[in-house]
Amino acid sequence: MKAAATTVQVPEELLDAIFEGARRLYPKETFMLLRGKKSKNAIHVTDLVVPPLAVYGYGFANFPLHMLPMDFSIVGTVHSHPSGNLTPSDVDFNHFFGRILMIVGFPFADAQNVAVYSSNGERLPLQVTKD
Ligand SMILES: [Zn+2]
Repeated sequence: MKAAATTVQVPEELLDAIFEGARRLYPKETFMLLRGKKSKNAIHVTDLVVPPLAVYGYGFANFPLHMLPMDFSIVGTVHSHPSGNLTPSDVDFNHFFGRILMIVGFPFADAQNVAVYSSNGERLPLQVTKD
């Protein structure tokens, strides 16, 4: 029997903050860490963590992973694809950090512009929640 896929839950406000950051840096990539907690069949994203200023705006591919905090409340990462393509690149998987990889694509408007993947490349269902 196949286990149910993990659902990723993101508050609407937090998604808006991600989109806003992505728009601000466009056409460069934005990159942030996702803080949250995992329950049985879901990962709840609760906070955004902006990386240290010195490395902000580099884009995901060039991000120095050794500068990331050793923090086990980090559930994954989010970065933008200014092209609008939501498919992760090989580089994205080589830089996988945490449990989930979230990609937001241009025009950064709604849940259609978001995709979340597990470390084995499976696309996970996303649920946008309102408080
Ligand atoms: Zn990417």
